[in-house]
Amino acid sequence: MNTFILHSQSLTLAQRLATELQGELEERQSHFRIHTILSADLEQLRELYGVDINLLSKTFNYSEVALMVSDMDSTLIINETINEIASPDIASKVSSITEQAMHGNLDFTSSFKSKISLLKGTKSETLEQVYNEQLNLSKGALELINFFKQIDVKMAVISGGLSYFAERLKDQLGLDSYRASNIEIVDNCLTGNVIGKVIDADAKAQYIHELCAQYGLEKNQVVAIGDGANDLEMMKIAGLSVAYRAKPLLQKNCDVVINYGGLDAIIDFF
Ligand SMILES: [Mg+2]
Repeated sequence: MNTFILHSQSLTLAQRLATELQGELEERQSHFRIHTILSADLEQLRELYGVDINLLSKTFNYSEVALMVSDMDSTLIINETINEIASPDIASKVSSITEQAMHGNLDFTSSFKSKISLLKGTKSETLEQVYNEQLNLSKGALELINFFKQIDVKMAVISGGLSYFAERLKDQLGLDSYRASNIEIVDNCLTGNVIGKVIDADAKAQYIHELCAQYGLEKNQVVAIGDGANDLEMMKIAGLSVAYRAKPLLQKNCDVVINYGGLDAIIDFF
């Protein structure tokens, strides 16, 4: 028996899909579940109906989730923070490097370094200004965080972007931990240099290993959420991997795909 989660409150759509899948419909508070012996081409259904639909795993134990690790840019927040810092004269150059790296077409570390060198001379106040005026949380982010707080799930933000933003988000949202890339600032100006290791795909996976060791957890108690190629490695080790409005490469490699709804769609699994 398969259980599909339809992240929608449309009864008409739920009935139509239940008929198509020859399944039994169950109405839940925020979504529908369809129980059926049939399997389904979820990618095709998502595209056809413009709706989020996922398979409820038979092997993953949702009640044992104890850690959520989320990417920052275009996942927890809607922005790509480094693009936001770039002044108009270099903005298109910076965002085109970001886009290529997100699709996995450019090595993350070298693309990060070339973007940071383009930002040389940027005033450090710009970071604060971007945080205060331009950063927006993704739809459903607060609902998901509040839900995980209620059930005592630890939360961490991991980012290949700047630690300035990751740390402020962690504090603002009351998360437990963060890790991100560091850049050099001298006399209130970005020097264009990176400090230490850039947080690439392997470093993100490594962070999950470290957090599990720190909290005494197994990897199958971890929910990882991301959107780009840099999230691929951490998805491979997390118990539940979620592609949020993600690039095709990542969608193909995740257990859960959310393309239309908010991050709070993840609550439907619990
Ligand atoms: Mg991202």
